[in-house]
Amino acid sequence: MRKPSATPAPAPAAPPPTVHGWCPGALRPMASGDGWIVRVRPHAGRLTRAQAAGIAQLAAAHARGPLELTRRANLQLRGVAQASHPELLAGLQALDLVDADAAAEQRRNIVVTPFWAPGDATLALAEALARALAAPGAPALPAKFGFAVDCGTTPALRATPAHVRIERDGQGLVVRADRVPLLARATPHDAVPLAMALAHWLARGAAAAPPPGFQPAPLPQRTGTRPQPGPAPGGWLVAAAFGQLQADSLAHLAEQGDLRLTPWRMLLVEGARSASALPGLLTDPADPLLRVVACSGTEGCRQAAGPTRPLARALARLVPAHGLLHVSGCSKGCAHAEPTVTLVATPAGYDLVRHGKASAPPDRRALRADALASHLAHAWGTTTTTQDAPPHEATDTPPL
Ligand code: SF4
Repeated sequence: MRKPSATPAPAPAAPPPTVHGWCPGALRPMASGDGWIVRVRPHAGRLTRAQAAGIAQLAAAHARGPLELTRRANLQLRGVAQASHPELLAGLQALDLVDADAAAEQRRNIVVTPFWAPGDATLALAEALARALAAPGAPALPAKFGFAVDCGTTPALRATPAHVRIERDGQGLVVRADRVPLLARATPHDAVPLAMALAHWLARGAAAAPPPGFQPAPLPQRTGTRPQPGPAPGGWLVAAAFGQLQADSLAHLAEQGDLRLTPWRMLLVEGARSASALPGLLTDPADPLLRVVACSGTEGCRQAAGPTRPLARALARLVPAHGLLHVSGCSKGCAHAEPTVTLVATPAGYDLVRHGKASAPPDRRALRADALASHLAHAWGTTTTTQDAPPHEATDTPPL
């Protein structure tokens, strides 16, 4: 196992962290209620065993609480003290997990399908795209501008937002935008230049004619099946409840294979044919915790108006097999960007959105925690009993 450098190389000073409008990185951490958030963006969405083991060591030394798997297929450490950041950064640099500068780090917002196979061009395209985004003259992209490289046999990232995506259809590679009905047919040689041209054009407001090679085409379907823990192309998927991963569990997974990150708060263990039971990991596709998502709530975010994960845990068994419940600490909805049944904490209680994002107008306002079960049953058209109500004291809901 490769260890972080014992004598860290000098690390660049981090700019002061702030809170709004951008995603954290390793070079530019973000302040949160429980300390700094330091996000690691693995190259091509993949961690070697040595990198994963090294991150586990660094997390044990410098982070408070578990690691987090993000919906951009990254891994982040929470609760990092400002004084620890230089040593943590040096450790990540020794593992080859840090970009040249904060601007390049922000631009390298690439989600890669975890279901790639050797020879399908996915890894080569993801690496070429990362190089293009780090090159001098790369476009200054808006914060949160994202790419998807989804070139496995079947698109897996259609439900994962991306401004520009490289994917494969029945005829070969294509480059397209999520919100502009354009498409260019591509080869492994010109897919990245086409993606960069499209990114430049979108970043300039898409006002002029589209870049050469792009033709009108229907918008891509933004639907996709949510994978489940178990066997998957390339290995075995394991999920982490609420995306939280104990450093010890990461270290154990690193002993089993290289790891691919996913946007579904799961890891794919390359080449694995089973999964060990490890604390916090979900390996049973029927586990109710797979049907709830929640941000850190008041446990870790200053903007939260109430607790989230204890409530989601208490309500999980009410969610039908096809359903998904999102419990958000505020209307920003960091944990889930797609419409679903959503509860939003407010100073007066929980607002219920029957089908929408956390920012959508609520269908019911200021509900008490002990009334939520029956409201949710109505949202899903199921029945419930009084014993299904979550324990009021466990959710620490403000009284109405
Ligand atoms: S959604 Fe959750 S994590 Fe995001 S700002 Fe609101 S309370 Fe914080």
